[in-house]
Amino acid sequence: MACPQCDTLHYAARLPEGSRAYCKRCGVVIATERATAFAQVLSLAITAFILMVAAISFPFLELDVAGHHNSISVLQAVTVFNDGIALLLAIAVAGFIVFLPLLRLASIIYALGPLVRGKPARRSAKEAFALAEFLQPWSMAEIFIVGVAVALIKVAGLAHVSTGPAFWAFCALVLITVLKDQLICRYSVWQALD
Ligand SMILES: [Zn+2]
Repeated sequence: MACPQCDTLHYAARLPEGSRAYCKRCGVVIATERATAFAQVLSLAITAFILMVAAISFPFLELDVAGHHNSISVLQAVTVFNDGIALLLAIAVAGFIVFLPLLRLASIIYALGPLVRGKPARRSAKEAFALAEFLQPWSMAEIFIVGVAVALIKVAGLAHVSTGPAFWAFCALVLITVLKDQLICRYSVWQALD
């Protein structure tokens, strides 16, 4: 197997429980022992899925200006762009920050669920995991949070802005997604699915 960072070739071997294999050249983790690693990734994926549902259902931002109070959720923000060419923008925003990340998490849960319980993989688990890998660059929840942070600094000068529960759910979701993508050992997953 090749190191994902420096391409150094190593012989693949079955790892003892709880252990990890590091690249002998650059030190990056190249494989983790299956059962523990799958359970960690699966639990993070389920957590991220629940946080995403919370992030789209609760208020995201609350604005107070000149006696007017307004609160908005992510889905309401998306539906603001609802006419003409802006409709395409609404579909893209909803897709990249909500539906593709949800589809990706669902695919990972579907593919890894039976493996964690020591059962054989589901029939289309390979396709589901390949889909999750394909969608990784298209899930842009973290880019959305960076955009919101920039906009908040601008808006904070004009109105009193407070963040709702969905904002913090989104932040936690971004951190958990990064952690999950770091922990996942693609080599072990593909081996187990084979
Ligand atoms: Zn390496």
